[in-house]
Amino acid sequence: MRIDLHVHSTASDGTLRPAEVIRLAREVGLDVVALTDHDSAAGWPEAIDAAAHEGVGLVPGMEVSTKLRGAGVHVLAYLADPGEPGFAAELARIIDGREGRLGAIVGQLRDAGVDITEAEVRAQAGDAPAIGRPHVADVMVGKGVVADRDEAFAGWLGYGRPGFAVRYSTPTEELIRLVVRAGGVAVIAHPWGRGSRRVLDRATLAALRDQGLSGIEVDHHDHSADDRAALAALADDLGLLATGSSDFHGAGKVDHDLGSNLTDPAQFRRLLDLAADHAAASGRPVPAAVLA
Ligand code: AMP
Ligand code: ZN
Ligand code: FE
Ligand code: FE
Repeated sequence: MRIDLHVHSTASDGTLRPAEVIRLAREVGLDVVALTDHDSAAGWPEAIDAAAHEGVGLVPGMEVSTKLRGAGVHVLAYLADPGEPGFAAELARIIDGREGRLGAIVGQLRDAGVDITEAEVRAQAGDAPAIGRPHVADVMVGKGVVADRDEAFAGWLGYGRPGFAVRYSTPTEELIRLVVRAGGVAVIAHPWGRGSRRVLDRATLAALRDQGLSGIEVDHHDHSADDRAALAALADDLGLLATGSSDFHGAGKVDHDLGSNLTDPAQFRRLLDLAADHAAASGRPVPAAVLA
């Protein structure tokens, strides 16, 4: 079984439509993919249809940026009901925060001499509810201001650069509790990637586990071989799941090819069991995984 548990589509900042991601998953020989667009379930219906049609397993999910002691921590929420009132309200608040930030980013870029408008970024984002910096970057690439997303982040959009503006994000513990209450399973994405490494030590991961965290992403592009070995040992020790994924964004991120990192089938089965437990405890109609 080849399982990739973290991929993006045009429902956030990926460059392939959900159905195109599923088709590619079949072509590269994946058995299961989790669609984890930022802060939204907008891509689920198309992905679920495509998965049934292509014979690929589909786990509906999301990736949500949270904050912990001043650092950004990305949380993967698998099989959480996006209609659960508390979770839905928090997602709406995050999307609102992205809306407010967009005006700030565009204003700051214009002040710095970049010819860009909010309307151009909205057009670039298409039907993605979560408008993000990658959409701003793509507009800048289209105008020849930068060569690619990496250059846009390094020169303009990253922390401390002229187009950087903060947006609202949920405290990590609170988001984990909301996901579990919505019948889902929470896993920290790329815990030792840039940004979150300094706050995610053993004691903090143990505390988050006690708040309902189920796992950590171990096999990810941002982790060295040493990191992966240390994180796998930590997960085992703390009773957390260890997952793996490509964090595929289509043409939006290089070296993140679909299926380039995978989740062990035994870990995936544990994840589904936990989702069933959390669903039963929450009493929520948890969205079913499409199993091939
Ligand atoms: P945002 O959620 O709008 O603050 O943008 C952050 C997202 O941009 C991350 O979740 C990544 O998907 C993407 N990202 C961050 N850094 C880069 C980079 N250097 N190149 C391309 N995409 C990036
Ligand atoms: Zn992304
Ligand atoms: Fe991430
Ligand atoms: Fe991601």
